[in-house]
Amino acid sequence: MASVGFIGVGVMGREMAVNLLKAGHRVRLFDVRPEAAEDLRSAGAEVASSVADAVQDADVAITMLPDTGHVQQVVLGADGILAHPPAGRILVEMSTISPQATREMNAALAKIGVAMLDAPVSGGPQGAKNASLSIMVGGDAATLENVRPVLAAMGTTVVHMGASGAGQVTKLCNQLVVGINLQGVCEAIALGRAAGVNLDKLRDALLGGSAASWMMQHLAPKILARDADAGFRIDLMLKDLRLTGELAFALGMPLPGNSLVTNLFLEARAHGEGDNGNQALYRVYDRLCNQGTGAP
Ligand code: NAD
Repeated sequence: MASVGFIGVGVMGREMAVNLLKAGHRVRLFDVRPEAAEDLRSAGAEVASSVADAVQDADVAITMLPDTGHVQQVVLGADGILAHPPAGRILVEMSTISPQATREMNAALAKIGVAMLDAPVSGGPQGAKNASLSIMVGGDAATLENVRPVLAAMGTTVVHMGASGAGQVTKLCNQLVVGINLQGVCEAIALGRAAGVNLDKLRDALLGGSAASWMMQHLAPKILARDADAGFRIDLMLKDLRLTGELAFALGMPLPGNSLVTNLFLEARAHGEGDNGNQALYRVYDRLCNQGTGAP
């Protein structure tokens, strides 16, 4: 069993930390919202007063933070992991962040003998709760084998994608599919509504054929119930689509689908939906089609 210093216990991190505890690992938490960490004491977690306090006696440090800047602060900041490395000299960075910034942090940590894996996840809060996440790993293969039992407590699919940054690139490909697929689901429901078909039956029929998808399975019911709660916030989705667009731009590669769906999510954020779940993309279609907020 490993001793884990876990930084960032938000929507995803808290479920992942609980699963590490359930698997018998020792977990010492830090979050800038102290109440988020305190809440997990009853599940057996220890609560740290800083990043350094959480990680320096640990075999493995894990970060699960919103965006690139938060991870850079936690890794490179004065109180951070570079200045106070874990005793086991391994960082598993599980947020969705820039592949390039990941490679830069990996290089800085390698200079002091700390191995960094990028290990972003897919599966949402439900996958985090059920320990059924898909984990996409970049970095040293031998380090992955060392921490595989830790990752296995949080996910069922763990794929080594290649060198540092490859996990993040894979996650951005994932988000491209997620965003465009969700747009397709919202657009189909808006069309069905406008044409007057029964929307529950529409979902059942589509789920039974080649339009079936995770989005249709898990988010269409929320769309039909006009439930916009997060889940996975639109602000985080926009962060991921921005990173995807930046990667494509750097490669000189057009991604028209990514551009279109990014603009639809920007429309949602401009209407104050940034903290809503990504399924609130359906409200963009409400506005575009003047379908209002009445019953489906
Ligand atoms: P969240 O905002 O709910 O949680 C992030 C946590 O980090 C918060 O508790 C916040 O207080 C804490 N934090 C921020 N800055 C910090 C700092 N400097 N030090 C310590 N703690 C700090 O976000 P989330 O939904 O849990 O997502 C986390 C990451 O996982 C993001 O990169 C997101 O894109 C990715 N992700 C999210 C989902 C999802 O469905 N929510 C799914 C897959 C991947």
